[in-house]
Amino acid sequence: MSGSGILLDVKGLRVSFSTPRGKVRAVSDASFSVRRGEVTGIVGESGSGKSVSAYAVLGLLAGNGRVEAGSAVFCGRDLLALGEKELRSVRGNEISMVFQDPMTALDPLFTVGSFLTEVLRSHSPQTGRKEAWKKSVEMLSVMGIRDPEDVMRRCPDSLSGGMCQRVMIAAALLCDPQLLIADEPTTALDVTIQEEILSLIQKLKEERGMSVLFITHDLGVVARLCDRVSVMYGGFVMESCSVDQVYSGAVHPYTKALLSAIPRLDDRGEEPLAALEGEPIDPVHLPEGCVFAPRCRYCFEDCLKTRPETFDLGDGHSAACHLLKKGGKADV
Ligand code: SF4
Repeated sequence: MSGSGILLDVKGLRVSFSTPRGKVRAVSDASFSVRRGEVTGIVGESGSGKSVSAYAVLGLLAGNGRVEAGSAVFCGRDLLALGEKELRSVRGNEISMVFQDPMTALDPLFTVGSFLTEVLRSHSPQTGRKEAWKKSVEMLSVMGIRDPEDVMRRCPDSLSGGMCQRVMIAAALLCDPQLLIADEPTTALDVTIQEEILSLIQKLKEERGMSVLFITHDLGVVARLCDRVSVMYGGFVMESCSVDQVYSGAVHPYTKALLSAIPRLDDRGEEPLAALEGEPIDPVHLPEGCVFAPRCRYCFEDCLKTRPETFDLGDGHSAACHLLKKGGKADV
């Protein structure tokens, strides 16, 4: 997919890690994009490659990680081809990231005020201390924090998890980035706080036109927040489409399995949720054919021999499954 509305366009990303067990193929083929003013979700189980893809794009892989192929074009530049200095300037100034556990991301010895003003001044050294304080207070207000001056003077250990995540999102937005990458930002929080953080991101999108790449294992969260979604499994993108399409016309067996596991509003708890049987694949020993084959109820001979190509289904919808070659789809 291409077009002027696309802010980040990732194509053919391949990432591996050297480990004592051998080469871990964390991401084998990931293509996804984020359009301006939209929220794109990347959804998948743990180990699907969704977070590694984001870390790779930002040059934040661990020392044993390597980008083997692909491109990640952001505002006309391929981030994967930039040097560390240029990438550091992109991170924080143009793209910010929010992580899963806000408590560990904040230093308990520093007040929120000293943390936020330092974040702002490190990216914009010409900003004076008073101005940095004022901007930080304003950003905490945007985050829905009622007494921001008080929060500025407190240390993280006196704040709730939800409050800490608001502080982290404030830090991420202080430099007015064009893209926010949020890696499971609500997973470590309880359900009520999760909802508050999702509402906050929704509000930031609507009021500030913010573009977001939202990484999650929860398709229910995608429905709540995202415009488009890419579903990952075993380091491959299985299906990409709009959120409406995922609910009205998902074609990939893995997407359908994820959908069937979402509790419905009219679910009275009488029917057990359909669980996905089998174990996730071992990324050191990827199967020859489709990586989802060992868990797929539609698996047939071709699936065990060759990797499915990605079929363009039109209207921004694509999926990688041999069933599509037959002109069929997985009817669950
Ligand atoms: Fe299932 Fe085959 Fe499609 Fe893979 S390619 S998801 S194994 S039907």
